Amino acid sequence: MTRVASGASVLVTGGAGYIGAHTAQALSARGYRPVVFDNLSSGFREATRWGELVEGDIRDPAALRRAMQTHGVEAVIHFAGLIEVGRSVASPDLFWEVNVAGTTSLLTAMREHGVARLVFSSSAAVYGQAGIGPLETIPEAARKAPSSPYGDTKLACEWMISAQCRAYGLSAVALRYFNAAGADPSGIIGEAHEPETHLIPLAIAAGLGDGKPLTIFGDDFDTPDGTCLRDYIHVNDLAAAHIAALEVDLAACAFEAVNIGTGQGRSVREVVQAVARALGRPVPHATGPRRAGDPTSLVADPTRARELLGWEPACSSLDEIVRDALRWEGQPAYGAGSRSARKI
Ligand code: UDP
Repeated sequence: MTRVASGASVLVTGGAGYIGAHTAQALSARGYRPVVFDNLSSGFREATRWGELVEGDIRDPAALRRAMQTHGVEAVIHFAGLIEVGRSVASPDLFWEVNVAGTTSLLTAMREHGVARLVFSSSAAVYGQAGIGPLETIPEAARKAPSSPYGDTKLACEWMISAQCRAYGLSAVALRYFNAAGADPSGIIGEAHEPETHLIPLAIAAGLGDGKPLTIFGDDFDTPDGTCLRDYIHVNDLAAAHIAALEVDLAACAFEAVNIGTGQGRSVREVVQAVARALGRPVPHATGPRRAGDPTSLVADPTRARELLGWEPACSSLDEIVRDALRWEGQPAYGAGSRSARKI
């Protein structure tokens, strides 16, 4: 069995990003020493409030080795990578280089430094359309048919990690996130992507009058209200899943892939209504065409997360997610830069 004890130093690649920063906070609260490894290409220095920041690129194994050595790293949580689906279609080579070659580089450094425990940031994007009906949930064994190079790279990383677990005695858990959303209730860290493409921040911006009216991407899907169904999971529940994945007893060579979602599908219209409720005013919106590549429904079967990790969502009701996202959107900026550019 491999275990990571409280107090251990845990390298968090991509720890200056949205989910990474919330996980660094959760690690620190649990008594671990997070060491954030991030090149700040899309993350924010201001987000690294928990543990030290080492600036570096995951494609640089020497920099990774130095960080592991200097900080006596015993385990790694690997978030660093590119995430924009549309960009992956335009530049697949870049995604393979950063996401796949970057993960190879990390695994090499871990092996050389004797770090045998990994939690990997995977995605529901590995399933693509999954061949599952609109009201069915997706188990881990569902068909994998990624609909973008982004999803391809996440699946390729899972395969490579699993093979290296068998070959080199590593043990790893890949967490397949559904729709990460919300923010820490403190309002000091939250979601900020440049450009922002996610539904909840855009619906809030539209409702606040800060952005354009929201476009609902299609209302002719085979779902109860015609809009897409997604499984929204509070980022702090996601962070807790990483701690559970770090702490679960795993045999050497074990590789586990686990869905992290609530099992509840919410439609785009339901999200818009929840944002309007939280704001106390309507969210200006119009219906437009479908967005290319959007699956009708992506809803987790979370059974395995409960059974293997003992994990269940604690704060992922839509109203809680929207309330915390709204608190974050209402905070003053970090530093002196523009609000949108300075948020995490
Ligand atoms: N969506 C939408 N309008 C927007 C952004 C998103 O209707 O401006 C829909 C999108 O089609 C999907 C859902 O909201 O059904 C969630 O999209 P998001 O980009 O937040 O996450 P994804 O599921 O693509 O990872």
